[in-house]
Amino acid sequence: MKEIKIGDISELHIDDMGHTGAGIGKIDGFTVFVEGAVVGDTVQVKIVELKKSYGFGKIIEFIEHSPHRVESECSVSDLCGGCQLQNIKYEEQLKLKKKMVVDNLERIGGISSISVNDVIGMETPFRYRNKAQFPVGQKNGKAVIGFYQKKSHEIVECESCILQHKINDKIVSDMKQIIDELGMTVYDEKTGKGLLRHIVTKVGWHTHEIMLILVTNKKAFPDKEIIIQEIIEKMPEVTTIIQNINTGKNPSVLGEKSITLYGKGYIIDSLKDVQFYISPLSFYQINPIQMEKLYSKALEYADLKGTETVFDLYSGIGTISLFLAKQSKKVIGVEMAPSAIKDAIKNAELNKITNTEFYHGKAEEVVPQLYKQGERADVVVVDPPRKGCDERLLKTMVEMKPERIVYISCNPSTLARDLKYLEENGYKTKEVQPVDMFGGTMHVESIILMTYCGSKKK
Ligand code: SAH
Repeated sequence: MKEIKIGDISELHIDDMGHTGAGIGKIDGFTVFVEGAVVGDTVQVKIVELKKSYGFGKIIEFIEHSPHRVESECSVSDLCGGCQLQNIKYEEQLKLKKKMVVDNLERIGGISSISVNDVIGMETPFRYRNKAQFPVGQKNGKAVIGFYQKKSHEIVECESCILQHKINDKIVSDMKQIIDELGMTVYDEKTGKGLLRHIVTKVGWHTHEIMLILVTNKKAFPDKEIIIQEIIEKMPEVTTIIQNINTGKNPSVLGEKSITLYGKGYIIDSLKDVQFYISPLSFYQINPIQMEKLYSKALEYADLKGTETVFDLYSGIGTISLFLAKQSKKVIGVEMAPSAIKDAIKNAELNKITNTEFYHGKAEEVVPQLYKQGERADVVVVDPPRKGCDERLLKTMVEMKPERIVYISCNPSTLARDLKYLEENGYKTKEVQPVDMFGGTMHVESIILMTYCGSKKK
């Protein structure tokens, strides 16, 4: 391999994409990331940064554009940090996502014997999000609402995000007017001054209930009554208004404390014949259309006969738990967020489901405890956040030996790590089904069925 140096100019073909959406090509077998290039492009690049085993190239010229390119439907997708794949045909996006899952399973999980199913995509991969988080800023004395620019906290103004429910276009425009007309102050990250930090919306897809959360820098809220009145008048669609207080300098959008300013303080959404309370701080799947397909797979893989005890770990507001409960003897849900566990308990009551128990705490602490007390699961469903399952949980799971494990994951690399552990301890991966919950972005969700095969692999 010839030595590659900073400043070298080379031509390369982009044959893959990294998780940040940069194109990946090779020069004599050496991996180069190229921002702005997509799979299928041929580009001339200048090497601008080198690490031990890979480097970064800056595009000098496009030699040939990829046949997979499409014109982005969004005018700010090049700047905005939200979407990475809007300029790639949807079928190609799905292929890339499948490849990401296959590569991770092989590379990290050492799992190559199983053929990964094609990704379950959407008919129209736009306007699918039920939750929006808009940072609020100010430019030339006027309110700016949009999204953070890639790798920065500059706000890219966005009047119509094509991933969001259409109602957000109106909410953003109305909120800008209200801020300007009533002189609401806007948070400045540098000085820590100014009131309004973010606007968060949650939409009940099937019920049309809408929650508007105003994230503020402190509890004191000048002109609160006038502002609430103005919101209600301008936006009769909004069914509840919440003030969420985030005094921290950390990057998380929401703080721990929420105050209901108007309406019920929660929204209700439904899926099939089940209804859910959703509070400001509780997790809820952001793509309700694909959620239905994901949960159908979860139920299919759980393959319940009605006699089983099922553990639903990382259960959120109990959405999967309630569907599982209808087909099993008992469901035990475990969830760390206090608001979500409260919602889960209320959701069981709301749906008159009596065979669920919800435990508040970390799955890796609660499940070993339950196991010690003699609880056993026939089927375990896990749906952890990006960092995957804690090894203490995986260890207890293999001791408990449920017949089936259904693993739902939003991060193929931690998924692969955890499957490896389970495969080394008596489980076999039977089916891998990616589901596209996040069209236009590099994110990929997968659902996996594993079964116990009795012997511990050495
Ligand atoms: N299964 C649910 C929620 C999945 S999101 C659904 O489909 O809606 C992951 C959830 O795990 C979040 O609600 C988060 O609060 C919770 N969580 C994160 N870390 C956890 C841990 N260590 N133990 C239990 N729950 C955890």
